[in-house]
Amino acid sequence: MTIGKIIDGKGFAAGLRARVGEGVAAFVEETGRKPGLAVVLVGEDPASAVYVRSKGKMTVEVGMESMEFRRPAGISAEELLELIDELNHDERVDGILVQLPLPAHIDERAVIAAIDPAKDVDGFHVTNAGLLATGQEALVPCTPLGCLMLLKDELGDLSGMEAVVIGRSNIVGKPMAQLLLAENCTVTIAHSRTRDIASVVHRADIVVAAVGRAEMVKGDWIRPGATVIDVGINRLADTEDGKGRLVGDVATAEALPHVRAITPVPGGVGPMTIAVLLRNTLVAAHARAGLVAPA
Ligand code: NDP
Repeated sequence: MTIGKIIDGKGFAAGLRARVGEGVAAFVEETGRKPGLAVVLVGEDPASAVYVRSKGKMTVEVGMESMEFRRPAGISAEELLELIDELNHDERVDGILVQLPLPAHIDERAVIAAIDPAKDVDGFHVTNAGLLATGQEALVPCTPLGCLMLLKDELGDLSGMEAVVIGRSNIVGKPMAQLLLAENCTVTIAHSRTRDIASVVHRADIVVAAVGRAEMVKGDWIRPGATVIDVGINRLADTEDGKGRLVGDVATAEALPHVRAITPVPGGVGPMTIAVLLRNTLVAAHARAGLVAPA
């Protein structure tokens, strides 16, 4: 029995961060200032705090300015919008990231809409979503762009391939489908109402699973030789030490004999997200300075 390849997302992300670091050094040389990434964290959600800390650390490691704005969970929507407005006008800030989720009393959509699209390094603003959907230059959401980078690294030209994206969220599924379409794939988006999802997935040369259901995609759903990108992050509490373990949306062990290649969880897509965020910040900094970003 042959076993597919495990894609080293962690290694690829480290390489991408190194390239971003070189781009940052060249930017500083040219402009005399560091690209700046502002991260806004509202409330005390421990997972968000861990994520923000690791973003800040990696931002500094690639040579950028990291600015963190922590606000209490009780902040009013008006105060948060004022902060966004200040960051929009702050010359040192090239990228603004508002860590989601926000507390229930704040309308996330209004906050995202308030971010200057030129500084929207998460790519969630409708202007960037619209630019992506119409095939124009855009700041693209980090997770799907990271998935695309891994796919192109593994498969080269994706033209003509059958791609099935499972999940249709605005932050992963939809932009992933747009990116694959732009690469000339034939794209199907599956979701919770899709009938006979196993046979839909079985058509695919490329499967991107972004659902949030532990090991939902079974091994025998996968067409032999397909490449599988597992975006899901699900914590199972079934370990003896009580710490739990992370699994993706794909039953990886079952899928391995079927796939050409598959991303692991953890160590696949996860590390790509922050690396692409840094890349997006570098791209935004170049655009704001009227410079052409490195490829
Ligand atoms: P959402 O909950 O916003 O979207 C989930 C999607 O999955 C929805 O479109 C939903 O369909 C679909 N879905 C739910 N149940 C089924 C089912 N039984 N069959 C088929 N489709 C189903 O999640 P996100 O897109 O934000 O995230 C998806 C996963 O990716 C999560 O595990 C998340 O933790 C992970 N993630 C990982 C990141 C990383 O850095 N690696 C970054 C972002 C997310 P419907 O629309 O019909 O409800």
